[in-house]
Amino acid sequence: MADEQDLMEKIVSLAKRRGFIYPSSEIYGGINGFWDYGPLGVELKRNVKDAWWHDIVRCPAAGPDGRPIQMVGLDCSIIMNPKVWEASGHLSGFSDPMVTCKECKRHMRADHLTMSLVCTVSAIPDQDFAAEDDALEEVDNEPTGEGFLVADGATIEEIQAALRRRLGSKRVKIVLRGQAMFAQDGNKNYFLESGYNTDWPELANLDSRCPHCGGELTPKRQFNLMFKTYVGAMEDSSALAYLRPETAQGIFANYKNVLDTTRIKVPFGIAQIGKAFRNEINPRYFTFRSREFEQMEIEFFCHPKEADRWYEYWRDARFKWYIDHGLKSSKLRLRNHEKEELAHYARACADIEYEFPFGASELEGVANRTDFDLTQHQKFSGRDMTYFDDDTKERFIPYVIEPSGGVDRATLAFLCEAYAEDEAPDEKGAMQKRTVLRFHPRLAPVKVAVFPLVRKDGMPEKAQAIYQACAKHLAAFYDEKGAVGRRYRRQDEAGTPFCVTVDGQTREDGTVTVRDRDTMQQVRIPAEGVLAYVRERLHI
Ligand code: ATP
Repeated sequence: MADEQDLMEKIVSLAKRRGFIYPSSEIYGGINGFWDYGPLGVELKRNVKDAWWHDIVRCPAAGPDGRPIQMVGLDCSIIMNPKVWEASGHLSGFSDPMVTCKECKRHMRADHLTMSLVCTVSAIPDQDFAAEDDALEEVDNEPTGEGFLVADGATIEEIQAALRRRLGSKRVKIVLRGQAMFAQDGNKNYFLESGYNTDWPELANLDSRCPHCGGELTPKRQFNLMFKTYVGAMEDSSALAYLRPETAQGIFANYKNVLDTTRIKVPFGIAQIGKAFRNEINPRYFTFRSREFEQMEIEFFCHPKEADRWYEYWRDARFKWYIDHGLKSSKLRLRNHEKEELAHYARACADIEYEFPFGASELEGVANRTDFDLTQHQKFSGRDMTYFDDDTKERFIPYVIEPSGGVDRATLAFLCEAYAEDEAPDEKGAMQKRTVLRFHPRLAPVKVAVFPLVRKDGMPEKAQAIYQACAKHLAAFYDEKGAVGRRYRRQDEAGTPFCVTVDGQTREDGTVTVRDRDTMQQVRIPAEGVLAYVRERLHI
């Protein structure tokens, strides 16, 4: 756990240091849940969106029937008629359970608090445990009857503070053995089990105290996540409007427009990428849970009888898309929702989850939403949402399959996956630690960097010419300052797949060196072949 926390801190720090992601309005102390993308981050995020748009809208694959999928795009307004949110159910039901600490006044999502249990153990074992289960078997543990609340993903320090309060001892220290967590208080030892364990009925008495300060918590209440605003000059209830909490409703509201103004027929999809806003109770894990974020959503309209087949198609296609862009399949998981977990209108739903350093969490949800949304809009708007099939002469309200992903979460996952540390020789040949972002070529913010070895002998001019030739076709970067080894290192941290260096030999035989980010191997090729070399290897 400590290693993963450490890894996340390194990624956040690299993101800031190299201009991927900054805290929003940082000069004023920032604002919780809002982030800005810097020069490298904006390129990375744009590449994620471009790859999605290309693969979904411009050049969709064949569907389960072997025919090319029909898909069109939309770009809808963020503020819509408030009736949309009444029809969609967001006004009445888009809320999270919240508790507030009466002492420190912190608001917390009640479903993000984890019960931790304390058990006495005779000694803290020396050996490393691979898994908590092994630890539990080997430790002769007895529940003490103690329990306390921590926030999901709490740091070691936060768990320690909560435990100190619970046991009333300032000396309590956390000791990690593999994945098992122990606490030591003088010569007393405790085993800590996270999560609520119903096998231990004596611990059912949940200690609902604030995990941060130990204060009393209010009872749970529902908190609506939509941001409110006013449209026009009057700030009264007639002018109340909302910033959209999802892009999907703009698609449903335009479904008839699209049918009437294009030649598209069911089955077809409408795709949109755009901002969404949620007043999250606890924004956290860097950009993972923000208050302003971008979604990339598809609403795919099909005949109700075909919906199961299209659901499976989209679920599997979307899962594969993340693997195709570099996420390791071992770190990805498809979590099919149990019946009890499904929204009342949904027939099936699966989350695509990625193993972030802070735990496995949702990247994208794929759901069979039946005809719920179109039926609701038909009811609330009075407009006919049925579809007439000219071939079968059948009239019906299409079912909708919705793959709904987060651009920021995908970008963060690609950043986490790309992060690696290894060793590279410095100018004197001594091995030094190297940080490198091994981005998929399609996503790398810069594809090629071009350097003159030194700023003389015509090298900058030659390097500039190569840079200009490349920049017309792909994201290129020119740098002539500092030792060339350091310039390589900076590009490794930016995730640039290739660095091209013009040196003394270039004038003699017209060749340059090309260094590969991952292997660090250098090859000499003719200067005029650089663009073709890079494109061929990156398949772009
Ligand atoms: P969660 O359970 O994590 O709050 P959700 O199931 O409510 O997510 P959806 O309503 O299905 O999320 O939204 C679709 C996608 O939008 C999510 O899979 C995620 O990628 C993205 N998303 C949702 N909320 C946020 C957020 N607060 N910050 C960043 N991305 C988000």
